[in-house]
Amino acid sequence: MDELLYRPCVGCGYCCKKATCVLGLGSPCAYLAQHDGRYWCSLILIGAVTDEELAIGAGCCSSLNSDRQRMLREQAKSVEKSISKNT
Ligand code: SF4
Ligand code: SF4
Repeated sequence: MDELLYRPCVGCGYCCKKATCVLGLGSPCAYLAQHDGRYWCSLILIGAVTDEELAIGAGCCSSLNSDRQRMLREQAKSVEKSISKNT
């Protein structure tokens, strides 16, 4: 992927909610799970597939979706709160 276009995944789940991949089950995919404040693929969590097989870590190709933007705003607020607590 072009490094200039790389946007990190924040686990908003938008891509899996919009389209189930070839390894998925149903729509929305039964393997999509919320854990620790973000979405995860259960197949990864149980070790059934590798990160490479699902291109995890390759970046987000729908970086302007509203779910991702909302998560980024929430993360920024959380960082601001913790900074103001410590100053
Ligand atoms: S839409 Fe992008 S940020 Fe959201 S889960 Fe998919 S890859 Fe990650
Ligand atoms: S199998 Fe995993 S990566 Fe594929 S659609 Fe389901 S949750 Fe997403």
